[in-house]
Amino acid sequence: GPSKRKGGSEMTGEERPAIKAKPRVEKNRVLVTGGAGFVGSHLCDYLVARGDHVICMDNFFTGSKDNIAHLLDRENFELIRHDVVEPILLEVDQIFHLACPASPVHYKYNPIKTIKTSFIGTMNMLGLAKRCRARFLISSTSEVYGDPLQHPQTEEYWGNVNPIGERSCYDEGKRAAECLTMDYHREHGQEVRIVRIFNTYGPRMALDDGRVVSNFVSQQALKNEPLTLFGDGKQTRSFQYVSDLIEGEAEGGAGFATLPPQPRHTRHTHHHPLQLIWVENTADDPSRRRPDITKAKTLLGWEPKIPLQEGLLKMVDDFKRRLRIEEGTS
Ligand code: NAD
Ligand code: UDP
Repeated sequence: GPSKRKGGSEMTGEERPAIKAKPRVEKNRVLVTGGAGFVGSHLCDYLVARGDHVICMDNFFTGSKDNIAHLLDRENFELIRHDVVEPILLEVDQIFHLACPASPVHYKYNPIKTIKTSFIGTMNMLGLAKRCRARFLISSTSEVYGDPLQHPQTEEYWGNVNPIGERSCYDEGKRAAECLTMDYHREHGQEVRIVRIFNTYGPRMALDDGRVVSNFVSQQALKNEPLTLFGDGKQTRSFQYVSDLIEGEAEGGAGFATLPPQPRHTRHTHHHPLQLIWVENTADDPSRRRPDITKAKTLLGWEPKIPLQEGLLKMVDDFKRRLRIEEGTS
C-alpha cells in the first residue's frame, strides 16, 4: 500500500507521480544452507512464515525439491542450487548453516566429501558472514561427544571421538567446523552460535534416510518388515521432534547455545506384534547419548514440547502418504 511519510503531506492517487520508487521494505535476509533437507526445509517454512526473506541453498545430495516445493511461489523465498564447498557471493543478514549429510549411511557414502563439506563449507559460510557482517549459526551435532564417557552430556564435556574411524569424517568434520566458528568469533568478533543437535525425527526425513527412527517407521513399521536392531540393541539415544528443534534454532536466545532435547528412549507406534532382527553393529557406534539441557532451559527458556508418541504419529502419517505416492497407489 502507499506509504505515509511522517511530517510530509499526504498525496492522493491523482497527485502521485507516474513513476515512483517502490518503498523498500526492509526484510531480514536469511541464508539457509542445506535448506532442502529434512531440518532445513522445516526451518525455511518457519522463517518464510515469520516474514524473513529466505535464500535456500542446497546441492540436493540428500535433500529434495519436494521438501520445499510449496515455498517456491512465495515472494520471500528463493532457491539456489549450489555446493557449499564452492565460495559464493550473496548479501545476507543472517546465516543458518546446515549443509552436511547427517545420516551415518549418507555421510559414510563419500567420507572425503563429507569432511570437505564440513570444513571448507563452513569456512566459506563464515567468510560470507564476515564480509556481510551477518549473524552465523551452525548446526553441529551430539556426535562431537563421540562415545561419551560423561553421561548425560553437558556443553562443557570435550567428548571421546575416534579421530581415524569410519565416523570421523562427520564427527571430526563437525568438531573442526566448531573450532573454525569459534576462531572466527575470537579473531573477528563475529556473532556466532553453535547448536549441537541430538537425534531429531519428523516428517520429510528421506524414506531411505537410514537413521533409526526413519528405518523403524518406514521399512519396518509401515511395510511390516522386522525392525533391524544393530548390535545388542541396548544403545540409547534421546529423540526430539523437529518443531522443537526449529523453535530453538530460530529463536534461541542471544548467547552461545546448545539446544538438545529431552531424554527419551526408542519406542514405537505399532499395532501388530513386532518382529526384531539383530544385525552386526557399525563401527564406533556410541553406546549412549543424552543431553543435560539445564543451560538451554535456564538461559534460553527452551525445552522440548512434543512427546515422542505424538511426534511419531505425525511422522507415520507423512511416511504413509509418501510411500503411497512412491508406490503409485495414492
Ligand atoms: P539432511 O541430509 O536431510 O539435510 C542436509 C542437507 O544438506 C540436504 O538437503 C543436502 O542435500 C544438503 N547438503 C549436503 N551437502 C551439501 C553441500 N556440499 N552443499 C550444499 N548442500 C549440501 O539432514 P538433516 O537431518 O536435515 O541435517 C541438517 C543439519 O543438521 C546437518 O548439518 C546435520 O549435521 C545436523 N544435525 C542433524 C541431526 C538430526 O538428527 N537430524 C542431528 C545432528 C546434527
Ligand atoms: N540403529 C538400529 N537399527 C537401525 C538403525 C540404527 O538399531 O535400523 C541404532 C544404531 O546402531 C544407533 C542408534 O540406532 O545405536 C541410532 O542410530 P542412527 O543411525 O539413527 O543415528 P546416530 O545416533 O548413530 O547418529
